[in-house]
Amino acid sequence: MKIAADRDTCIGAGLCVGTSDTVFDQDDDGIVVVLVEEPDGADADKAREAVSLCPSGALRIIE
Ligand code: SF4
Repeated sequence: MKIAADRDTCIGAGLCVGTSDTVFDQDDDGIVVVLVEEPDGADADKAREAVSLCPSGALRIIE
């Protein structure tokens, strides 16, 4: 699986980083930065959870 993040849609809510700070980070403006584009194992599970929690729909999973 691969994570795609639309930085124009992200509203900087930070739920992704709160769910997995190994896969996601936020830049100085609070906008999402994907640290691990193709997570596996526990990181993949956390990444899926983060995608489901993101309030703006900025995150997408590509299988
Ligand atoms: S949870 Fe969504 S809106 Fe919030 S920082 Fe992450 S990608 Fe952006």
